[in-house]
Amino acid sequence: MPGKIVHRASLAWEKWSPSKINTATSCPLRCYYEYMLRMRGERFPLTVFGSALHYMFEKFFKAHKKTGNFPYQEVRKFQNVWKGFWWRAVAGNHGFSNMGSDPEEVPWRDSEQVGQLFGSGWNILGKFYDRYQPFRMAGNIHIPERRFTFDFCGLTLNGVIDRIDLFDNHAVILDYKSRVFPKHEQMTGTQLTAYQLAYQQYLRNHIGQGRPLQSMQVYGYWKDAVQDLPLRDDYQIGMLFYYMLEASEYYRSILTGRPVRREIIERFRFFPEEDIETGNISPRLPRGNHCTYCENVETCLAWEKGEHDTPRKLFADKHKEKWDAKTPTQISLPFQFSPVVRIGANNFYRLKNLPFIEQTSLF
Ligand code: SF4
Repeated sequence: MPGKIVHRASLAWEKWSPSKINTATSCPLRCYYEYMLRMRGERFPLTVFGSALHYMFEKFFKAHKKTGNFPYQEVRKFQNVWKGFWWRAVAGNHGFSNMGSDPEEVPWRDSEQVGQLFGSGWNILGKFYDRYQPFRMAGNIHIPERRFTFDFCGLTLNGVIDRIDLFDNHAVILDYKSRVFPKHEQMTGTQLTAYQLAYQQYLRNHIGQGRPLQSMQVYGYWKDAVQDLPLRDDYQIGMLFYYMLEASEYYRSILTGRPVRREIIERFRFFPEEDIETGNISPRLPRGNHCTYCENVETCLAWEKGEHDTPRKLFADKHKEKWDAKTPTQISLPFQFSPVVRIGANNFYRLKNLPFIEQTSLF
């Protein structure tokens, strides 16, 4: 398509979101299934419940575009919207992520679970309302569900921050969670590290009008509790980059068959080095907490016994169309993912009215 950068298979290892990094470091095979082969099973009841609550939290903080007024000046109005949204999603009129999402089959535990979750949501939203109604009316700026994508040392980091609150002289990032964070996640969880980086590197100037990030918070909705998290230091930011780099080199090497660039990764610390030799992608065994919400347990059991094609072949089959099939042998040009280069390339083709030329066709 003229003037457009199309989706490339190499984005599988070049583009990272906080949840993708978490998944890859907790189980390389799960990340491969979910993010590279796009094998998604049915979502769990608690997962769709969490999505539905996120949707309600977003609506609550979404001011009317023209008037700037917030909706729902009474808690009961807010809860009634939940009532309609939840039961329409259960009936299959739409999905659980928003009104426009596709209906979903959910493996409910039993017929009572649907009603129990509805009641829990009703109570959670009541407490949420009491906590945040005065807060949102205090005259500050609240930005729900803010997306970001930016270049980070040659890789792309993207994601969505649940809420950014802009005060007179500073900003606060907030993430909604089903649970409160244990100590290690408060101090080092990669998701919030990525959000901090996204704000400081990208959003601060795009939407924050230069306001510095003062703190990060987690709102645990089951307990109606807010936790303040410390800002990450350079070491944590460096570790985030290292996780991304190692993950990127691990998957690139296995899925393209090209050698690991040892000048970048001397040895793997968080991914199985032996996978590079065998061309396999290993499940993280023994199975445990990291498998709790895995949607491909049965496939994984068969995979463990060797009942599968090579990851490279499966990936190539998935991306066999047109440009994507060529990508594993594609030559990487320096700065090709820099926003400046992308914008320049797109404008060039648009101005010249030329068909888009893939970079490898020049060689
Ligand atoms: S079941 Fe566990 S080990 Fe297997 S892919 Fe899922 S998360 Fe990984």
